[in-house]
Amino acid sequence: MMTTHEKTNEQPTHALSYYDNLTGLAHKRYYHERMSCLLKTAARRNEQFAFLFIDLDDFKDVNDRYGTQLGDQFLHAIAQRLKLVVREVDFIARLEGDQFCIILDNITDDHDVIKVINRCLQKIKKPLTIETHLLTPTASIGAAIYPRDGINESDLISAADFAMHQAKQAGKQGYVFYSKNKSNLATLRREKEYLLREAFKQNQFVLYYQPQLSMTNRQVVGVESLVRWQHPTLGIVAPDYFLDLVEQLELQTQLGNWAIKTACEQLANWHRSGLAFIPVAVNLSPSHFQDHLLIQTVKDTLQKTGIPAEFLELEVTESAMQTKGHIDVFKQLRKIGLKIAIDDFGTGFSCLASLKQLPLDCLKIDKIFIDDMLSNSHTALLLGTIIGLAHALDYSLVAEGVETEEQALKLQHLGCDIIQGYFFSKPLPADDIPSFIKKTLVDN
Ligand SMILES: [Mg+2]
Repeated sequence: MMTTHEKTNEQPTHALSYYDNLTGLAHKRYYHERMSCLLKTAARRNEQFAFLFIDLDDFKDVNDRYGTQLGDQFLHAIAQRLKLVVREVDFIARLEGDQFCIILDNITDDHDVIKVINRCLQKIKKPLTIETHLLTPTASIGAAIYPRDGINESDLISAADFAMHQAKQAGKQGYVFYSKNKSNLATLRREKEYLLREAFKQNQFVLYYQPQLSMTNRQVVGVESLVRWQHPTLGIVAPDYFLDLVEQLELQTQLGNWAIKTACEQLANWHRSGLAFIPVAVNLSPSHFQDHLLIQTVKDTLQKTGIPAEFLELEVTESAMQTKGHIDVFKQLRKIGLKIAIDDFGTGFSCLASLKQLPLDCLKIDKIFIDDMLSNSHTALLLGTIIGLAHALDYSLVAEGVETEEQALKLQHLGCDIIQGYFFSKPLPADDIPSFIKKTLVDN
């Protein structure tokens, strides 16, 4: 007969073999069992289920940069976030490393699956503080549906894995449903590549300009230039659609040089029409800083257009800041008089403490903080810290993606005065900028 004592001893053994120590999620073994069960039930009941393959983006960077101990804490935190997303009936497991799966039982259409996927992506990407590091996790998700994409475990997992890799290729932080018609995808990509190369040949790119305003006097203190693709039949195409492909085709330097030239020419045009010079920011790809001609290109452009260097600002990502060899380039650019801004600040891996050594002028606070700051006191606290630090280091600050007056006022209260986002204005065609500026002058 079994004693009570023996019984209590048995449970942890079961738990250890079925649950992953680090995250508390189901273990791969448990997953195999559950899967074979599900396949049988679904076949008998004629039901569908969805298999989501979740792979964290750039997890290796976290481990490399901060060590595996912090990496483990990171995985643990992500697992807790995933748990919050699923219903009790759904199954979630850690497959290995930074790979997880979620199985959504008895689904009727893809929209239900998309809803869960979107919840996952939203939940995962919230800023995460571990020790003193601010991390912004993201993930790519591949989805496969039983029986449409496979009727056994190995077919389903390879379909979801294939889709997950496509999500990575499409720029990460996204999802892809498996499609049997792989050749169709390849054709689409070839078509897109052709269209993009044509866009370069036929000068189909334009810059839009998003005003940045000071909360104190509600006047324009600068603009960020944003590239758009003006396709003859598709209309205005947003960069999300083509920037990844630009990188894959290694056209980013060409696009960046064009953007610098166009922004400076535009600034000269506005100036000729009677507008005072305003700072204009240009976004550059991290790899553009490996171009040995960059500094000369910038010098030549400034000289040709007659723009004083201090009105040209280059926006770079945090990762570009931390790439070896780039720091020197930034120093040289600043020596000419250009301003350097870190874009999407808070989403990369900046160690706040190392900021003071960087050759830089401005931090642009990423939209994810803004979206979250009114509902999450933790985020507001982090923002306050970032703002305080920027002031202490004498960097200017711009908050991006500000959509409401409430957000703008809160940011002002926290000490961030310069606001960019739909609250003041969406990105505008170049011709609309002078009247926008004049209007803010009249209004105030
Ligand atoms: Mg930017």
